[in-house]
Amino acid sequence: MKCPNCKGELVRSKKDPDYLLCYNCKKKFKVKSKENKEETQEKETATYSNIPKEAVRKKSEKKVKEDYRKMEEADDDENGGSIVPIIVLGVLIVIVAALIVYMLIK
Ligand SMILES: [Zn+2]
Repeated sequence: MKCPNCKGELVRSKKDPDYLLCYNCKKKFKVKSKENKEETQEKETATYSNIPKEAVRKKSEKKVKEDYRKMEEADDDENGGSIVPIIVLGVLIVIVAALIVYMLIK
């Protein structure tokens, strides 16, 4: 690309690739080349279509599985927590009943 003022060769800025520099007239020109645009669009398409959806899907699947696992664990805890007191209560009732019977017989 040539400088519109002095027709000299423009040099792409190393700091900002969107700008072309003319060393003859010390000017910089903002350029948005077609190549750059297409590249950007391609990147955006890739970002918005494939990668995030896949990641989100896997994340949500993992979350569902974890929730299900937690639910199962909670069920186990509930069963373990409710059966033991019933057994203890049953044993206590048997002991008290045996004591009462023992005292009545005596
Ligand atoms: Zn120039």
